[in-house]
Amino acid sequence: MSSEMSPNKVIYEGKAKNILKGSEKNTLIQVFKDDATAYNKKKHKIFNGKGILNNKISEHIMLYLNSKKVPTHFKKRLNDREQLIKKCKIIPIEFVVRNIVAGSLAQKLGIKEGKKLKKPILEYYFKKDSLNDPMVMRDHIEIFGWASKAELKKIDKISLRINKLLSNYFKKKNIILVDFKIEFGRLSSNPKQVVLADEITPDSCRLWDQKSKKKLDKDVFRKDLGSLMKAYQEVASRLGIVH
Ligand code: C5P
Repeated sequence: MSSEMSPNKVIYEGKAKNILKGSEKNTLIQVFKDDATAYNKKKHKIFNGKGILNNKISEHIMLYLNSKKVPTHFKKRLNDREQLIKKCKIIPIEFVVRNIVAGSLAQKLGIKEGKKLKKPILEYYFKKDSLNDPMVMRDHIEIFGWASKAELKKIDKISLRINKLLSNYFKKKNIILVDFKIEFGRLSSNPKQVVLADEITPDSCRLWDQKSKKKLDKDVFRKDLGSLMKAYQEVASRLGIVH
């Protein structure tokens, strides 16, 4: 790790990121690590430089979404691995948006990967590693108090808007946005405001080359399909991020 990295205290250790105390009020520092995990940590490997690529890819996407008035936690990138973010309380739900059948959807329903959906599917998963992040329904979220009905309505709308914006954006780079997972949080400075949090990177999206349908995301690692770093570098270079 480079010497410019922040010495601040780690307050949360995640699989692919750590969260540090921020230097300003209501901020945190998000640190992107080189770890890749899959199947609830059953598979784990370090890829030198992955964290640097993901930090820059997520910055690029968050800035794009900010420019389109999507509220996000992103403030600025601090260095190769760290970004300053607005402190928020994460809603314990993973919001998955799908445009094409792949991954767990293909597996669960026995539908062939690659089938285009006639409209996007929104799914909800309760964030709980010990339960393998079970799929839940809107009623569970509301009744168990993970988010209010009004928040959910807002989040659904933002998720579908992000999907539209990013599908078009990636299309211009000859990439198909197959599906992705996003997380939301309530700003500590204003808990009524829900913002896009966490990251958007090839760790959290399925990205296929438009023409060859070659996978340019974490499935390369999950399914041992070749070089993960080459795939992520390809995404970064198509987005115009020079590494
Ligand atoms: O595995 P599944 O098909 O449900 O994943 C849907 C999308 O959500 C994929 O893009 C995957 O990378 C992402 N995902 C994630 N973190 C998880 C589960 C899924 O980023 N814990």
